[in-house]
Amino acid sequence: MGSDVNFENRVKALTFARGRVALAVILRALDVREGDEVIIQAFTCIAVPEAIMAIGAKPIYADIEPDGFNIDPAAVESAITDRTRAIVIQHTFGLLADMAPITDIATRHKLPLIEDCCHSFLSKFRGEYVGTIGTAAFYSYEWGKPLICGVGGSAYTGDDKLAKAIANIRSEFAESSVLQDMQLALQYRVFSILYQPALFWWLRDTFRLLSRFKLAKGNYSPLSANDVSPDFSMRMARTSQKILDRKFAYIHEYAARSREITASYSERINSKQVTHPQPLADTEAVYARYPLRVVDKDALLDKARTARLEMANWYVSPIHPLEKSEWEKASYTPGQCPNAEQRCREIVSLPVNNKVDDRYVDAIANLFANSL
Ligand SMILES: *Cc1c(COP(=O)(O)O)cnc(C)c1O
Repeated sequence: MGSDVNFENRVKALTFARGRVALAVILRALDVREGDEVIIQAFTCIAVPEAIMAIGAKPIYADIEPDGFNIDPAAVESAITDRTRAIVIQHTFGLLADMAPITDIATRHKLPLIEDCCHSFLSKFRGEYVGTIGTAAFYSYEWGKPLICGVGGSAYTGDDKLAKAIANIRSEFAESSVLQDMQLALQYRVFSILYQPALFWWLRDTFRLLSRFKLAKGNYSPLSANDVSPDFSMRMARTSQKILDRKFAYIHEYAARSREITASYSERINSKQVTHPQPLADTEAVYARYPLRVVDKDALLDKARTARLEMANWYVSPIHPLEKSEWEKASYTPGQCPNAEQRCREIVSLPVNNKVDDRYVDAIANLFANSL
C-alpha cells in the first residue's frame, strides 16, 4: 500500500484462521457482546453472520440497493435499534458501497463501521483505499480471493488502541497443528498447479466432494450457535502466513491485471440482456470477480459448463450457500430483503486473475453473443 507501511504491517500481523475469525475478533475488541445486534447486508456469505453468531451477537440484515450488490444506506438507517453495536459494510466483488451516506449514518449514531474487504484490497473511495475508511476492516485469503494463501484472514484498523486490543485477543489464540499446516500446504499447491479457467467446473466439483469427506478444508461450516468452530480461537496457519508474507506485494500486480481484464469484459460483452456493474462516482473498483446481471442465469451457466468456461453462480442465496430452509438459522426471514433475493437469481461472475487470457475472453464474449 504505497501510502502506508503501517497498513501492510498490521495486515500481516493481525492474522487469523479465516477472514470470519478476524471479523469476530474485531467485534470482541469493540466490546460487542452477547445479545447485541450487528447490521450486515443480505447477499453475503455465511462467513459474516457466522462470525457475529460465534460471539453470541445477532446479525440484522439490511437489503441491498435495487440495482446493485451493496447495502442500501436507507436500509442501514432503518435497521438501527438501541441494541445495534456495529455495522459491517461489504464491498461486494470489489465495488464500493455508498460510503458517504453510510459514514454519515454511523457518525450520527456513534456506531463503528467495519469494512468487509474480502473481495478487494485496492478499490478506492475519493482516493482512499477500502479498509481505511471505516473503524476497522477484515480480509480473506482463501481460494477465489485476490490474494490466495490457502486459508486465512486478517484484521486491520488505523486506531492504535483497537489494534492493540485485537493483538491481545490474538495472543491467546492457538497456533495451527503440524497436520493442519501440511494439509493446507498441500491443498494450496494442488490448487495453484491445477487452477485454470477451463478446469473451473471440474475443480469445483472435486473440491466439494473432498471437503464433504474432510479431505480438504471447505469454505462452509454448519451454522449453529452452540457449536462454534474451533477456528474462532485460532491464528492463521504458519504455512499460509509464510505465503502471505511473501506474496503481499502481489496485490498491486493483481490490481493491474484485474483492471485490464475487466476493461476487456466491459468492452467485449455486449447484449441487451446483460447489465454491467456501475461503480459509484468518486470510486474506483478493483474487482475480485467481474459481476454481471443476466436474464436467464441457469441456462447461461449450463452453457458455460458445457463449454468448460469459468462462470461462477455466487451468491446463490442471500446467505450463501444456505438453502431457503436454513435461512432462519442465520436469523434471516425469507422475503425480508427482496433486492438481495432478486440479485441471487440474476448474478453470474467472471474471473479476473492472471490465468485469464485473450482466448478465454474471446470464448466468453462469444458465449454471451450466442446465448442471449
Ligand atoms: C470470503 C469472504 C469472507 C470470509 O472468508 P473466510 O472464509 O472466513 O476467510 C467474508 N466476507 C465475504 C464477502 C467473503 O467473500
